[in-house]
Amino acid sequence: MKKYLKSFTVLAMVLSLSEVTAAQTRSSGGPLSPMQQSFNVHYYDINLRVAMNQQAISGHVDLYIIPDADTLTTIELDLGEEYRISYVETGGRLTGFRRAGDKLFVNLTDPPETGESFRIRVVYSGKPPVAVRPPWDGGFNWSKAPDGSHWVGVSCQGEGAKLWFPNMDHPSKRPDSASVSVTVPKPYVVASNGLLESVNDHGTGFHTYKWKTRYPIHTYNINISIAPYETYEKPMTLGDGSTMPVVFYVLPDDLDKAEGLVDMAIEMLTRLGKYYGQYPFSSEKFGIVQTDYLGMEHQTINAYGNRFNYTRINGEEFDWLLLHEMGHEWWGNKITVTDWADFWIHEGITTYTDALYLWDRFGPEAYHAKFDDYRRRISNSQPVVPGSDMTSAEVYNLDIYYKGAYFMHSLRYLLGDDVFFSALRAFATDESRTYSNYTSTSDIRSFFEQHTGTDLKAFFELYLYTTDLPQIKIEQDGAEQYQISIPNISFEIPMEVVTGTAVQRVVLGPVPVQVTSPGRPAVDPQNWYLKNGN
Ligand SMILES: [Zn+2]
Repeated sequence: MKKYLKSFTVLAMVLSLSEVTAAQTRSSGGPLSPMQQSFNVHYYDINLRVAMNQQAISGHVDLYIIPDADTLTTIELDLGEEYRISYVETGGRLTGFRRAGDKLFVNLTDPPETGESFRIRVVYSGKPPVAVRPPWDGGFNWSKAPDGSHWVGVSCQGEGAKLWFPNMDHPSKRPDSASVSVTVPKPYVVASNGLLESVNDHGTGFHTYKWKTRYPIHTYNINISIAPYETYEKPMTLGDGSTMPVVFYVLPDDLDKAEGLVDMAIEMLTRLGKYYGQYPFSSEKFGIVQTDYLGMEHQTINAYGNRFNYTRINGEEFDWLLLHEMGHEWWGNKITVTDWADFWIHEGITTYTDALYLWDRFGPEAYHAKFDDYRRRISNSQPVVPGSDMTSAEVYNLDIYYKGAYFMHSLRYLLGDDVFFSALRAFATDESRTYSNYTSTSDIRSFFEQHTGTDLKAFFELYLYTTDLPQIKIEQDGAEQYQISIPNISFEIPMEVVTGTAVQRVVLGPVPVQVTSPGRPAVDPQNWYLKNGN
């Protein structure tokens, strides 16, 4: 999601995250109600008119629902209480509904048959919540571009898509596809997910953009941005020889910068593809849309609000925000969790990817410098995975980014590069864990254990389910003799031990290991692990 922040200035501006979380009155996820467990929405067809002067939306959403049982008499949906519902229709007839806060309960007079798709239409209108500090505090951005045009954005990862359309606001309840049709005055352009199917000119000064994605998608990733965008597009040749458009919806004033950002995107997609397999949504596009908020990983249409503020390493430039949101196309969008308790799989592995890119492009020094930076940002105030059936607000903090990334960094050292990268790629390309399937922390552990033949239970427990850190103990035991141990863990971890000029990989645990060294040995001086002591 959201972007962890790069500079301390920006960080200070948005912090504290606890303050941000407290400010959120809404979140998504948590325990799924029995009623919501009993059906799935497999397709959303969203049809809206966006009145930018009035800062309002109106229209209808068709939800295509498949019941898991033939006793379904009520459909429980999520929709912000600020919206007025004109009517709800199913099977060509109006049907009753009731509201309770952000919940919408639709009555079904004839229970639909198990496994048979049926449609509910919700016709509604209202003023969406205005985003205060997007993307952390989501809603609509009713911004103005430098030329005075409207510039509209939406972000809702923390609060959920109920901020703008009726849906099942839960990470475990993704549809297999979605359409978004939005009517705006000409010459405004609507950028959204998937492929542009049509632009229908009504001859009244208004036109309707119709987009459709045929991939499974989180409802918070269904998205629109509106501005008098120009498009800049280049084809990218993929590993399998096919081509895919890389397209940037850019404000006219910044069109001259578009080629540079698109070229960066192609370079980054190529590097990430080496580690995780080909870009996951290649039958549609890799899309970027310029937004007035920092960023969000909206699938196939990543929000980009970094204002071309490039990072420079060794005289070369890249955009850290573009890289981060792109990483989510694998970790978050292709590979995704059912429970926000496992949010770190989205944020931590994407943040790991940010550093891995540096290794791949600039070498180990840039990678380790990144982890030095991450390490200083870790608060370790609660476990990375703090429970189960959790809401986004309960889980979201900077440690899901930085400690999550550090966990992958440590796992890499523990397994060694060949084994680690082979397992990571195998995981990211495993059909049973991607697209319409889901993963979890325990699923990653069992996959890595099977793939590598290594028992990782205690290692996962320590770093993801507790806030404990290994306590390194070094005791001198005679001339040039030292005993090294980690007394507060009950398992063993390989660590680098530097004795004089020699670097050894030593398996350390509660039982002291004797090493010979002309001076006090250094344990894990490159900080592959989070630890205390030494
Ligand atoms: Zn993120």
